[in-house]
Amino acid sequence: MASQIPDKIDTLFINCHVATMTGNALSIIEKTALGVTGKTISWIGKEKNLPDALKIRCQKVIDCQNGWILPGFVDCHTHLIWGGSRSNEFEMRLAGATYEEISKKGGGIFSTVQATRKASKDELFISAAKRVAALLSQGVTSLEVKSGYGLNLETELKLLEVIGQLDKTFPLHIQATFLGAHTLPQEFAGDSDGYIDLVTKTMLPAVKDQKIAKAVDVFCERIAFTLAQTKKVFQTAKDLGLKVKLHAEQLSDSNGAALASEFSALSCDHLEYLSLSGAQKMAEHNVIAVLLPGAFYFLKQTQKPPVQILKDLKIPMAVATDLNPGSSPVHSMTLILNMACVLFDMTCEQALLGSTINGAKALGLEQSKGSIEKSKDADLVIWDIDTPADLCYLAGFTPIKMVMIEGMIHNNNFN
Ligand SMILES: [Zn+2]
Repeated sequence: MASQIPDKIDTLFINCHVATMTGNALSIIEKTALGVTGKTISWIGKEKNLPDALKIRCQKVIDCQNGWILPGFVDCHTHLIWGGSRSNEFEMRLAGATYEEISKKGGGIFSTVQATRKASKDELFISAAKRVAALLSQGVTSLEVKSGYGLNLETELKLLEVIGQLDKTFPLHIQATFLGAHTLPQEFAGDSDGYIDLVTKTMLPAVKDQKIAKAVDVFCERIAFTLAQTKKVFQTAKDLGLKVKLHAEQLSDSNGAALASEFSALSCDHLEYLSLSGAQKMAEHNVIAVLLPGAFYFLKQTQKPPVQILKDLKIPMAVATDLNPGSSPVHSMTLILNMACVLFDMTCEQALLGSTINGAKALGLEQSKGSIEKSKDADLVIWDIDTPADLCYLAGFTPIKMVMIEGMIHNNNFN
């Protein structure tokens, strides 16, 4: 497994074990040496195979004290920019109101939309930055953030600009997704086709012109947009050359996954009510299944996504925090890993693949992120754990020794 010898190594990690997340498995190498040159991984192999010539060409050697190196987490589904607070809604729900009841009463998401429209860019940046910092401190090195609490041109663009600003400010790779078709804004009540016209004729061309989103997402559901409306948004996105993904079959089977697959979506997300035929379409078109146990948990859902069907059809499964104020206020990937195992019956290996390489695939980043391989970005987390399964088992515990993103060291806790 020893690789070709690079000319020099900037940082060499020794005395560690590595789970590379290659070949659809943890792919563990024990007693490893891992070299980083510039922003990429330049050497990986057993420490005993490390050439002497290379040892003397290392700028910096880090003794990992028998720790584990895993790829940084890729959190491929979040809505972490919003204004206001929804803890009052949490209390309402505890008193018995359901997600749909709150939504139909104009509560929930609309209070967030109002607060988000009112908030300045600076205010949105400051609150979102705290959430990004929380995820980074938990080992997330790549992150997707969706717009979708603006629901008018001005605020949707404002949100996407703040996402760009976060990407520039933080060392993480932060990718923006446009989710204008998140829910019907109150001013379009009774005219959802009119709103979809605004999304397709005004918002999407502006998003394309400003190059501020990588992908376009839609919430296809009985409380959001129909299949026909989703198709309209996807067709426009496709015509503009933008990738698509879908919030699909979360509360009912709307046949969204099959439609998204026909548009070669990067991913279908949620999928609690996914049918066998929908899953078969996903498999045919290589669509990633993004499972979001945080929302399942927080909404006290009982219908689990069909994990066994996904496994049987060899559809890669990603897991993500879905960090958002209404249905998954979860700021921890390790907590999500625990939920994926306990609530969705995923194995630790599947959950870890889901939060690394399969998360990268859901964002179209698998060429550079999500696994530990020569020439890939050196996005690494060094963990003080006995085995990778500890990250799933020890719910919410994040004993991080160091985070490296594109070859730069962050959160160094080595003494
Ligand atoms: Zn979502």
